[in-house]
Amino acid sequence: MIKQIIELSVEHNNVACPMCQHDILDWQQEQYLQPCEHTAFIALDLGFEYIADFFEQHLPHTVDEIHDQELNIFEQINASQGINLTVFKQDLGAHNLCRYIGVIRPE
Ligand SMILES: [Zn+2]
Repeated sequence: MIKQIIELSVEHNNVACPMCQHDILDWQQEQYLQPCEHTAFIALDLGFEYIADFFEQHLPHTVDEIHDQELNIFEQINASQGINLTVFKQDLGAHNLCRYIGVIRPE
């Protein structure tokens, strides 16, 4: 599956949806995760923080299986089939952890 990975080096920067410019990650909000209709998932290496219904079916495993078996989140995202995504990868600056934000991409 073709995915575009965009690495963001600065943590605590807002991340805007390339489709609608909505801030998916908005540090001005108390609830800083603000998925829009184009947001497929928001995940940490440790697990999914948000997943859209339309995306879960593209994963090789269900989210419950991924969490229960502690499967590698980034590998699972990479193994998704049948959907074009832009994935923003943001280093959290601690413990080699990253946050991943997937946005659907038109063909
Ligand atoms: Zn959007």
